[in-house]
Amino acid sequence: MTKAYIGIDLGGTKISTALMDEHGAILARAGCETEAATGQDAVIARMVDTAKQVARDGGKADLRGIVAIGVGAPGPLDTKLGVLTAPPNLPGWLNVPLARIIEEQLGVPAYLENDANAAALAEFHYGAGVGCANMIYVTVSTGIGGGIILNGQLYGGTDGAAGEVGHTMILPDGPLCGCGNRGHLEALASGTAIARAARELIAKGVPTLMVELAQGDTSAVTALTVEIAAKRGDLEAQRIIDRAMEYLGIGMANLANIFNPDMIVLGGGVTKMGEMLFAPVRRAVDRFAFPIIAKTVQIVPAKLGKDVGVIGAATVAVLHG
Ligand SMILES: [Zn+2]
Repeated sequence: MTKAYIGIDLGGTKISTALMDEHGAILARAGCETEAATGQDAVIARMVDTAKQVARDGGKADLRGIVAIGVGAPGPLDTKLGVLTAPPNLPGWLNVPLARIIEEQLGVPAYLENDANAAALAEFHYGAGVGCANMIYVTVSTGIGGGIILNGQLYGGTDGAAGEVGHTMILPDGPLCGCGNRGHLEALASGTAIARAARELIAKGVPTLMVELAQGDTSAVTALTVEIAAKRGDLEAQRIIDRAMEYLGIGMANLANIFNPDMIVLGGGVTKMGEMLFAPVRRAVDRFAFPIIAKTVQIVPAKLGKDVGVIGAATVAVLHG
């Protein structure tokens, strides 16, 4: 019987689940809304239902041949105990032993991992990082997260909390970060940060195409608005993106200098802007990292796209299975 693994990616808005083989091929997938407001029991029941559905669709309705289940969830969490500590986008969840509950309901060993670390494992084993020894994955979307792979292993740190790339200090007294500090990378280079910089500029009355694109509604300006305006030649939008990406590059240069990795893989919604992001990031790394380190490190786009979360969760299962 072929072995299979289930990955469940628990997000604040969506649950994505897949049945995967040990080579990273998705055999079946299912998903639904998280509906976090319905409470933890209802959400966990939906997670279990999607797991049963992918098992059935993959010809393993009796769950035999399913070696393990991996769950990717937003931190903070305790990977050793499989406990979700206090996820900010799942209100009311406090110290939920999620791995144990899922294991009991399905009768298959289950493991919990931080979603950014799970994504790093996915890109390392099945995506852009195949063949690397030392790889750092950074996701740039509404926030900035990361996962660090050293000598082929995920580096979790003493508390399993390592890889908080978004909360590294770039600019003292800079903009306020979601964590309460100022000038963290996430407050300077995430999609949220780019949109906020644009809104501040518009509020000052600076003429820019972004106002037109948002049809006069400043609150509708997103990172995508800034990207579109920049691509159409709007200098203010270009400046906002260049500055954000220089900060991102400074963050990546710091990581490169500390870890001397083979590769930094950049994923997440903001990286869809392509060279507009990668060119300034590579430039900053060349400028700010040690020459030997800058020469070695490849800075490349993630390969797994939207599937990275669910493949990541399933990868956690493969590694434990
Ligand atoms: Zn922060």
